Amino acid sequence: MSLMFNGIGASRGIAIGPVHLLQRDRIEIVEAAIPKMRVEDEVARFERAVAASRGELQATLEQVKDNCPEDIRSFIETHLLMLADPALDERPVEMIREQRCNAEWALKQQRDALVEVFDSMDDPYLRTRRDDVDHVVQSILRALHQIDVDDGRAEGADAALPDWRGKVVVADDLTPADTVLMQHQGVAGFATESGGQLSHTAILARSLGIPAVLGVHSLRRYLRQGEEVVVDGKAGMLLASPDEDAVAHYRRRQRELKKRQKALARLRDAPSVTLCGEPITLQANIEVEEDIRALRRSRAAGVGLYRTEFMYMNRSEPPDEDEHYKTYLRVVRALKGAPLTIRTVDLGADKEVDHERGPLAHNPALGLRGIRRCLNEPAMFIPQLRAILRASAKGPINLMFPMLTNISEVHQSLALVEQIRGDLRRERLKFGDESALRIGGMIEVPAAAICADEFAAALDFLSIGTNDLIQYALAIDRVDDQVNYLYDPLHPAVLRLIRGTIRAGQRAGIPVSLCGEMASDPRYVRLLLALGLRNFSMPPNLLLEIKSVVNATRLASLTEGAEAVFDSKDSQAQQELLDELNAIDDEQAAEGEAAGSGSAAATVAG
Ligand code: PEP
Ligand code: MG
Repeated sequence: MSLMFNGIGASRGIAIGPVHLLQRDRIEIVEAAIPKMRVEDEVARFERAVAASRGELQATLEQVKDNCPEDIRSFIETHLLMLADPALDERPVEMIREQRCNAEWALKQQRDALVEVFDSMDDPYLRTRRDDVDHVVQSILRALHQIDVDDGRAEGADAALPDWRGKVVVADDLTPADTVLMQHQGVAGFATESGGQLSHTAILARSLGIPAVLGVHSLRRYLRQGEEVVVDGKAGMLLASPDEDAVAHYRRRQRELKKRQKALARLRDAPSVTLCGEPITLQANIEVEEDIRALRRSRAAGVGLYRTEFMYMNRSEPPDEDEHYKTYLRVVRALKGAPLTIRTVDLGADKEVDHERGPLAHNPALGLRGIRRCLNEPAMFIPQLRAILRASAKGPINLMFPMLTNISEVHQSLALVEQIRGDLRRERLKFGDESALRIGGMIEVPAAAICADEFAAALDFLSIGTNDLIQYALAIDRVDDQVNYLYDPLHPAVLRLIRGTIRAGQRAGIPVSLCGEMASDPRYVRLLLALGLRNFSMPPNLLLEIKSVVNATRLASLTEGAEAVFDSKDSQAQQELLDELNAIDDEQAAEGEAAGSGSAAATVAG
C-alpha cells in the first residue's frame, strides 16, 4: 500500500528510487565487564572496528576524489589522521586491557577526556576539533556494532558509509556538508525529518539541483530500507511504495521537467531584458568553487553572492590568507571579467563550524554571527579581507559584508579595509584600486532596511537578503519547520522593507540587488520588478526560469496589479492578486500591438 508524507518542498525536481535510511542517531554506550580470557578478543574487535572505519573513509575519499571540493576532502583526511592518532588508536586498547571493559566503554572514556581538552581551548578553531573527535568516535562505534551484526551477535543496523548512488536518502537532519557529499555520490534526492526551507542545507540542495523534502516528522519510522519512494521536491511530498500508475505518472513528470529544461536552455544566450527594453541583471549565488560550472551553463552575469563560509566547514583550521587568495583568484579567472561579489564569512546560526551539539547560544540567529563575529574575531577576518583586496588586482570584485545592523559596523569594516590597504602597500603587495573593488553590504536585518538610506550613503551597493530579512521581520526561525508556514515573502512588512531598501538605493544612486531565495522564485519576479528591483542573484540552475519571466514582462503593465498586491491586507486575496499579476500575457499583447513602447520606469507607488 502506498503511503504519502507531506513536508516542506525544499528543492524542486522529482526523484524516484530506493530509500536509504540514514540512522545516525547516537549509539548508547553501556559498560560491560570482559572476562580476563576474552580481553584479547575484545582488543581484536576494537582493532577491526578502527580498520573498518578507516576503510570506509578511504573508500569515500576514493569515490569523490576527482571533483571533490577541497573542504570535503580535508574533512575526510582530518578524520583519517585522527583514526591513526594514538589517542584513539592505542589508548582505548590499553584501557580494555587495564580495566577489562568493553571496547565501547573504553572508547567513550577516551572520547570524554579528549572532548574536555578541546572544550577548554580558547581558540575557536581548535575547539571545533571536538566535533571531529565525535564524528570519528561515532564511526568506530558504528563499526563495532556492525561487527556484532556480521558475527550474529546483534540486530542489523545501518552503519556503513553507504553507496548513495540513485537512492533517496532519508535522515533525521543533514548538514550542508552532507549535502555536498551526497551530490558527489549521485543521490537521487533526499528527505529529512527536520529543517526549514531556508536552512542552508535546503539552499545547497537547490543550488546542487537535488530534489528534497524537509520537515517530515518521524518519517524513518514508517519506511523500510530499500523500499521504493518518490520525492516531489516542489510539492514537498514523499510517496512510499508507489503503485505502477503513480510511478508512471512521476516518470512522465520527470520527462516533462527535462523537456522544460531543454526549452529553457534555448534562452541561455538571449539577453535578459524586459519586453520594453529594460535590461535586468541576473547573477548567480555560489557556495563552493565548483558552482562556477553551473554558473557558466546558466550564462549568469557574474556572481551576486559568494557564500564563503562553506570554505570554513568540515575542517579544524580556518583557511589562511593564501588559501583564500588562491581560491578567489581561481574564481576571478573563471569569471573572465564578470563581477564577483564575495561576501565575507557569515558564520553562526545554522552555519556553525562547531555545530555538532556544541554549547550554542540560546538564540544563535540573534547571536554573534555575520559581521558581528568578523569584527569580534579579527584574526579570522583580516586574512580574508587581505586576500579579497589582493585578488581584486586581478579582476573586478564586490566586497560584501553580511548581517549589517548598525552603521558603526560599516564604519569599522571600512576602517579595517583602509588599514589593510596601508599594510599591503607597505608590504608591496598588489591590490585593486577603488574602481576594481566596490564595497557593499547586505540588508537582511529589519533595522538596516529601515535605515537603508544611511547604509546606502556609506556603501557602493546594497544587496537584500530576504532569507534573513523575513526571518527577523516575522520572528520565524528559518530552520524550524514548525513555523515554516509563517514564512511569507508577501507579508506587508516584508514588502515595505524591500521597497524601502530599493528606494534608498535609487536615492543614493547605487545598485540594489536581491540575493535571498525570493529572487529565484518565478512567482515573485514581476512584483519585485514593479518594486523597482533590477538586479537579481540566485542559484544558477534556476536562472533561466527567471529569465523566461523577465523576458515576457512589460514593466508598464505591472504597475496597477503590483500596487494591488502591495496594498492587500488579506493574504488569500493577495495570492490571487499575485496570480493575476503573473497571468498578464505581455508577450501576446506585444505581438498584438504593432510596436509597443512601454515605460521602463514602472514602480509601485505609495
Ligand atoms: C539571505 O539571508 O537572504 C542571504 C542571502 O544570506 P544567507 O541565506 O546565506 O543567510
Ligand atoms: Mg543571510
